[in-house]
Amino acid sequence: MASHQPENRPQSKPVPTDIAVIMYTSGSTGLPKGVMISHGNIIAGVTGMAERIPGLGEEDIYIGYLPLAHVLELSGELVCLSHGCCIGYSSPQTLADQSSKIKKGSKGDSSILQPTLMAAVPEIMDRIYKNVMNKVNEMSSFQRNLFILAYNYKMEQISKGRSTPLCDRLIFRKVRSLLGGNIRILLSGGAPLSATTQRFMNICFCCPVGQGYGLTESAGAGTITEAWDYNTGRVGAPLVCCEIKLKNWEEGGYFNTDKPHPRGEILIGGQNVTMGYYKNEAKTKADFFEDENGQRWLCTGDIGEFDPDGCLKIIDRKKDLVKLQAGEYVSLGKVEAALKNLPLIDNICAYANSYHSYVIGFVVPNQKELTDLARKKGLKGTWEELCNSCEMENEVLKVLSEAAVSASLEKFEIPVKIRLSPEPWTPETGLVTDAFKLKRKELKTHYQADIERMYGRK
Ligand code: AMP
Repeated sequence: MASHQPENRPQSKPVPTDIAVIMYTSGSTGLPKGVMISHGNIIAGVTGMAERIPGLGEEDIYIGYLPLAHVLELSGELVCLSHGCCIGYSSPQTLADQSSKIKKGSKGDSSILQPTLMAAVPEIMDRIYKNVMNKVNEMSSFQRNLFILAYNYKMEQISKGRSTPLCDRLIFRKVRSLLGGNIRILLSGGAPLSATTQRFMNICFCCPVGQGYGLTESAGAGTITEAWDYNTGRVGAPLVCCEIKLKNWEEGGYFNTDKPHPRGEILIGGQNVTMGYYKNEAKTKADFFEDENGQRWLCTGDIGEFDPDGCLKIIDRKKDLVKLQAGEYVSLGKVEAALKNLPLIDNICAYANSYHSYVIGFVVPNQKELTDLARKKGLKGTWEELCNSCEMENEVLKVLSEAAVSASLEKFEIPVKIRLSPEPWTPETGLVTDAFKLKRKELKTHYQADIERMYGRK
């Protein structure tokens, strides 16, 4: 083939330290920062991630539905491309037959593509969980009891390491078909996945549900669970491309000498640790360092705990910790995780600051559940009117408080006032990221008037 390059122009091939991508962080806690990801970082990350996916190869079909500008999607697709898998492109609104942009009676992308691999942010799995459970609640009592019986039976068998082929075929095939029926591994990442949702997906989709942990700054995952590890709530051991240390965080009360499990801020070191923030040397210096052996490390701001087998659990986030006026520390993420799976709640953002002594919350209620609750309480009105009514706020608050107590939240962690939001939080509203993570700063601005009301200034 004739070359159009002038003869004397030298060809420049990338070297491992060249920047491949400047990728912006999701901006869940403030302004997104551009992360300089080198070719070397990408190769290291992809190698590490692929090693945790057994049997990855040309037979696999991956469904991509997050924007490629999210590190989870970019790294997931590069892992697939490097192993010859097919990729089908979808979107959160067209994933399944029931998705919001699929016409009733038409097939969603998963039914057509029948993927074998899927990387899902927890929000997507939570939605599937709630939808299926709503359907189960609407079943006749015979069908419902059968489903629950099969569910509990399978849960017990899984804990003993046994499979349940008959149950899978007779009871769970229909649920499994929601994602096309061929999924062999589901991977969650980007935010905490609740143990209930993880176990539910495990049981109903009849496949391992792994969890990975990582950041844009670590060019994707730093840990992923092994496919055979059926525990919930853990993110696995460090990938082969990196290592992890825990650093004491005195303010939060986490020490790597803690018993029975060492705890502390997660530091990731290795080839996948990126070059730093674009045009932001101060922040790069604050978050990255090189040790005496020249290994690059990232201070993640996340708090982890190691199990005796070397698997990590994410237990907190430095940035989510707020000191209340009276001095107690509240972990907003912990409060949200305890309440998010309630059927009555589609989404929740806990809020607190150091000028006040209690936690408040912004809540997107589930339309069907809230309407049912209103009917039971004899309250009438449009959706907006119900969300704006003090009575409904109090009713929801009661349900939240009960759930908070049974989830063993401390008294000061339980929201004292809430705002019911009639509009859902979608990436288009700018209140959550493309991966559906809460954007705390934007939510605070959006609900400023409500914050003032709930803290008694209005
Ligand atoms: P980003 O790089 O902007 O996509 O966000 C990275 C942040 O997401 C991390 O610092 C964690 O706080 C959070 N994160 C990622 N994966 C997990 C996980 N499996 N469990 C809990 N938090 C996670």
